[in-house]
Amino acid sequence: MDIIPRDQHCISRKNISDGALKVMSRLRSGGFQAYLVGGAVRDLLLGGRPKDFDIATDATPEAVTGLFRNSRIIGRRFRIVHVRFGREIIEVTTFRGHHDNRPKDSEQNEAGGNHSRQSASGLLLRDNVYGTLEEDAARRDLSVNALYYDSGKFEVFDHLRGLKDLEQRTICIIGIPEQRYTEDPVRMLRVVRFAAKLDFSIDQQTAEAIPHCAHLLAEIPAARLFDEFLKLFLAGSAARTLDKLLEYNLLRYLFPSTSKRIQQDDKALALVQAAMGNTDERIAEGKHVTPAFILAALLWPIVSEQFEVLENGGDAPMVAMHSAAHSAIAEAVKHISIPRRFSQPMREIWEFQLRLQRRAGRKAVELIEHRRFRAAYDFLLLREQAGEDTGGLGIWWTEIQELSQEQRFEKAASVEDNHKRPKRIRKRRPNPAP
Ligand code: ATP
Ligand code: MG
Repeated sequence: MDIIPRDQHCISRKNISDGALKVMSRLRSGGFQAYLVGGAVRDLLLGGRPKDFDIATDATPEAVTGLFRNSRIIGRRFRIVHVRFGREIIEVTTFRGHHDNRPKDSEQNEAGGNHSRQSASGLLLRDNVYGTLEEDAARRDLSVNALYYDSGKFEVFDHLRGLKDLEQRTICIIGIPEQRYTEDPVRMLRVVRFAAKLDFSIDQQTAEAIPHCAHLLAEIPAARLFDEFLKLFLAGSAARTLDKLLEYNLLRYLFPSTSKRIQQDDKALALVQAAMGNTDERIAEGKHVTPAFILAALLWPIVSEQFEVLENGGDAPMVAMHSAAHSAIAEAVKHISIPRRFSQPMREIWEFQLRLQRRAGRKAVELIEHRRFRAAYDFLLLREQAGEDTGGLGIWWTEIQELSQEQRFEKAASVEDNHKRPKRIRKRRPNPAP
């Protein structure tokens, strides 16, 4: 094991949150070990500012909650303790151990009431066997995520050559890749995510095992995939993440229909890429982003294709859009959960694409005040950016927003709308015989 003293690394306590420092010092005073670990150490060593602070300790979850009134145990698959300081939550995890070499009834493990459990295919269903710091490091996913910082002695502990990988900018899974992916297939998504986020390359063996194990992602519950989706696409490197997911053919486990479609249709690919690029820009500028917008873009190739089929089959546009949206979402949620608070705005963004086609009259002007206008307008621009021909709608809606209310009405009144709603042919009921 390598121990790096304070004068040989760049971590300074002033970049660590007070909450995290407090938790570690109280654990140490209680006679326990406590280290900053995971993403926080990685990002500090890379000179960045961590977004959250995770702590690893040899204290059991019960011992931790005994020390902090503002704490509670959460999770089943992994039991962890959340210690709250105002708005900040510090995550405290007890060192994890190896599963097979520890008697199930050992005192420490019994006290924690914990077990480990694997599915028939080797998926780790529960991982609450406690261990030492060395064992804990070996149970983590990537070498660059397995560095520990001791805020008392100011030392960094490196058991698995994480520092070397950080220097060489390499994502390397710990242990035998096939085995680690089998235990938890989400680790494949994490490999891709961190490679994209940090702009690191992927170690050869870490990469080569992915095609052999990718199918295991089909076993992951839809809710966990949604959590992972948020981390993949809302962390500021969505464009690069998408490229990597496509390179490793993993998008199909999150959005199978989209994955298929964008391999056949360059415009569909361009739209999804543009959505990711825009999202990254917005995040870089500190603007608000919503998963609903990204999801709307990811499913648009499916929705718009289905819409066309239905409309050509004689459905009224709104009816066609409604059905297309319904079936695209119903198909998607078989793989990835989409909470209603996102699926509803997605539908509205799609349906709004039809309403934006009607530029004439008062109603058109009033659309600008609609709470979904902004997202729908951005979405329209996105479609144009990806090469879709909307007949110049984007520029029209851009210009009208810059006018006064009075000028808007004038502009809308002068429009010859070439997107008039097609007349519906109603079937007449035969007149009753006199
Ligand atoms: P960030 O929070 O910046 O996305 P992170 O590395 O902190 O990155 P988390 O998901 O917060 O990622 O996880 C914290 C740490 O827990 C990781 O650094 C890693 O050591 C460990 N970890 C998380 N998920 C797994 C997993 N599926 N398998 C093994 N270890 C994991
Ligand atoms: Mg983290």
